Amino acid sequence: MPKRMLIIGSGFSGVVLARELAVKTDSRIEVWDERDHIGGNCHTSRDEKTGIMVHQYGPHIFNTDRKEIWDYVNGFMEFRPYVHRVKAVSKGNVYPLPVNLHTINQFFGRSFTPAEARDFLATQADTSIEDPQNFEEQALRFIGRELYEAFFYGYTRKQWGCEPTELPASILKRIPVRFNYDDNYHNNSYTGIPVEGYSALIEKILDHPSIQVTLNRKFIPGTDLSDYDHVFYTGPIDAWFDYKYGRLGYRTVTFEKFYAEGDFQGTSQINYCDLETGHTRITEHKHFAYWEKHADTLCFREFSKETTPSDIPYYPKRLEADKQLLMQYRSEAESLKKTSFLGRLATYRYMDMHHVIGEALDFSARFLLNLESGSPLPVFPNTENS
Ligand code: UDP
Repeated sequence: MPKRMLIIGSGFSGVVLARELAVKTDSRIEVWDERDHIGGNCHTSRDEKTGIMVHQYGPHIFNTDRKEIWDYVNGFMEFRPYVHRVKAVSKGNVYPLPVNLHTINQFFGRSFTPAEARDFLATQADTSIEDPQNFEEQALRFIGRELYEAFFYGYTRKQWGCEPTELPASILKRIPVRFNYDDNYHNNSYTGIPVEGYSALIEKILDHPSIQVTLNRKFIPGTDLSDYDHVFYTGPIDAWFDYKYGRLGYRTVTFEKFYAEGDFQGTSQINYCDLETGHTRITEHKHFAYWEKHADTLCFREFSKETTPSDIPYYPKRLEADKQLLMQYRSEAESLKKTSFLGRLATYRYMDMHHVIGEALDFSARFLLNLESGSPLPVFPNTENS
């Protein structure tokens, strides 16, 4: 008898898992999503007025170092090479990000060589911080106070709504510092954007006779799901438990959409690093699909705020109190039968698309191996602190 599997959520973790189960077992797989579209926060659609491909929940650039993940997504759709070049506005000037030789020279009004810039920044860095324990210490240790205050302090306060000393150093480690003129925002070997957008890519991943997708279907905690042989949940872990121990902290993002003629800002993303500017960044989406031609343009001013119960959770804050709460939810999840938790929201981590896909592929392999050998099925893809 084929097994009945239920996957809750059609973001990358849910759909990659669905595909693996469909291709490698004779299961019937149902995928539910509470929204009226697939793809979770990666969803893309064309703007009705201009025809521009819009990343509905903010910019998504695919980048990875794992060739098998790059090959996996390219197996469903062509990716066009895309180098993300972000600019930053600070005190009325425009600089390239990530902080690179150009940024350093422009900011300090110098013309350093790479070696000179490295030596100079060493004089700025606070070397008394041996092992940075938070975002601010990480910045002071590696770039010094002036660059930190110009590019990171204000943006981070706006983005996370708290002092950078409360945030983990890992958030800053996402962004490289370079002593050359390379202004590619990402360090990865493979980077691109799917030619027809992420939702069309995800539709292809889901296109298999054993997969049935139901939209506008919200999971209600406590629903009897015993008809299914296994349930995979990719929504927020606290929502599964109806928030019985409290809510995990997330930041959410809101957008102010506006149209302009021609080219509004000359690039896809400009960050606004000063605290006084309300928005964190402006994204101009036609530049993500530079191979398309559009006379007019469409931009989004992006604002960050604390998540209320009716908001979509974006960035897990992972403050100390959140981690304690997460531990409670995780240990209760471990005691459930025939249920697994997967993805950014169910594991409550700041993950990029390539992390999510890689983890979904690794998790599926482990799940299928254990299923075949009759070993206990994995509940989470990760351990508590990974
Ligand atoms: N950040 C900053 N200034 C910038 C860009 C980023 O302070 O101009 C900080 C901020 O705390 C942000 C983090 O670095 O949350 C990670 O930035 P990234 O661009 O990776 O964020 P994402 O695109 O995922 O929102």
